[in-house]
Amino acid sequence: MAVMRVAQVPRPKGPFEIIERPIPEPGAGSVRIKVHACGVCHSDSVTKEGLFPGIQYPRVPGHEVAGVIDAVGPGVAGWEPGQRVGVGWNGGYCGYCDHCRRGAFFACVRGQTTGVTFDGGYGEYLIAPASAVALMPADLPPVEAAPLMCAGLTTFNALRNSGARPGDVVAVLGLGGLGHLGVQYAAKMGFHTVGIARGMDKEPLARKLGAAAYIDSQAQDPAAELLKLGGAKVILATATSGEAMSAVQGGLAVNGTLLVVGAAESMQVSLIPLFMGCRSVKGWYSGTSIDSQDTLAFSVRTGVRSMNETYPLERVSEAYDRMTSGKARFRVVLTMG
Ligand SMILES: [Zn+2]
Ligand SMILES: [Zn+2]
Repeated sequence: MAVMRVAQVPRPKGPFEIIERPIPEPGAGSVRIKVHACGVCHSDSVTKEGLFPGIQYPRVPGHEVAGVIDAVGPGVAGWEPGQRVGVGWNGGYCGYCDHCRRGAFFACVRGQTTGVTFDGGYGEYLIAPASAVALMPADLPPVEAAPLMCAGLTTFNALRNSGARPGDVVAVLGLGGLGHLGVQYAAKMGFHTVGIARGMDKEPLARKLGAAAYIDSQAQDPAAELLKLGGAKVILATATSGEAMSAVQGGLAVNGTLLVVGAAESMQVSLIPLFMGCRSVKGWYSGTSIDSQDTLAFSVRTGVRSMNETYPLERVSEAYDRMTSGKARFRVVLTMG
């Protein structure tokens, strides 16, 4: 029987184990993907640390998958072996629950999550529902595609649905894994892009990524600086600090939106400027497979790329620790040699 190597988590907070398993067959409605690369995302801690109830172990994490379809299960239309594809956090949707029928596929009540409710991309193969699969452009290498399936998708899809128009001031708070992509997308979408981070040492990077202006939130009041530019139509908050988010909200223009994609626990909101200026604080879910597909296509056309550190699957523990350390520049990607 043909076998594959996967990195599984045996139990919540357990160590990664590299084991061999039989290569599984795709069931009805699913495809089998030979994985070439898989990003290591902060949300993988959901599986690694057992942060969601009901996860069944052992479980293989990984939801920034790039590879090629290698087998197709019964009843799958539109996909065939040989297609280069990616799979992200959204692990498919049913198509018939009330949310799906209203077009809110991301909120599907039977929705699955890659690497959480089924085995993900930390391995040589995975089985994914066909509704979770995104087409990957021919000229995008797997290592470059993988982080765009989650970090790229989240920032791209949030910005394109933000209501900002070309020329509007759009600020990106935080210049990490999400933020360094957010600045690039905002610039390529034609926004007057402002990078906000701690320290002047990040300014050259922000400008290289396309920021027209940079605010050092340690040395300057970011809200006051944004108001000097006319106020931000959108502030994309990628930081994981609620304090940093609270500190920028005063920089919103009238009708401006603080768009939260960073995983901070909570933030302080000043309500009077909110209703006096029709401002809002809004969250954004990443997206579904067609949004990922749009993200990949846009990235190829405009040259947006993640900066990555790559590790072979055998060094998964080191790769995961590197990601959680916050020191990676900027995304960590596993390769399946
Ligand atoms: Zn992710
Ligand atoms: Zn549904």
